[in-house]
Amino acid sequence: MARYTGADCRLCRREGNKLFLKGDRCYSDKCAVERRPYPPGEAGRKRAKESEYRLQLREKQRTKRIYGLLEKQFRGYYDLANRQSGVTGENLLRILESRLDNVVYRLGFAKSRDEARQQVRHGHIHVNGRRVDIPSFRVRSGDLVAVAPKARDMLVIKTSLISNEKTEVPQWLEVDIEKLQGSVLALPERDQIDLDIREQLIVELYSK
Ligand code: SF4
Repeated sequence: MARYTGADCRLCRREGNKLFLKGDRCYSDKCAVERRPYPPGEAGRKRAKESEYRLQLREKQRTKRIYGLLEKQFRGYYDLANRQSGVTGENLLRILESRLDNVVYRLGFAKSRDEARQQVRHGHIHVNGRRVDIPSFRVRSGDLVAVAPKARDMLVIKTSLISNEKTEVPQWLEVDIEKLQGSVLALPERDQIDLDIREQLIVELYSK
């Protein structure tokens, strides 16, 4: 699966928002959004003209970047959400949250979704006792996500756990730090997803 390989901090500056893509650095005074709070590039400091379309586009781009996805895959998730019953925007966020790389990050086994994706790809994560190396794998209610026995002593996972002590595991997940595993209690409701995303803007954009 293709992925964005440019500088993560540029994405945050482009969105004018902290997207928390780089783990510890995001909480430090080295954060590029704090140091240079304007878009990157020559025209960065010029004020962009606001329009309804621009707002919708920016919200979609921001959400896509938070989860580290490219357009094709993100659009595919939207189409799936649209086919499901219920509120499309909420369905979309629920699908995004249920990706295995996101769950590994939310459980605190990685400092960022990018790091979580690497762990999954390298086979360090098991789901219900089986190795799953596909970051886009979607967990279901009742699944057990665990660090593989061979990966339990990995420094990167230990430091992630220490640095993630400050972030709370969401209500829809339950973590057992001793066993380095977590359960999916249920897929999340909108109020259990702590992102200030205005998903309705994304729905409006794609519905045009
Ligand atoms: Fe974004 Fe983190 Fe870089 Fe700050 S440090 S600009 S939050 S990726």
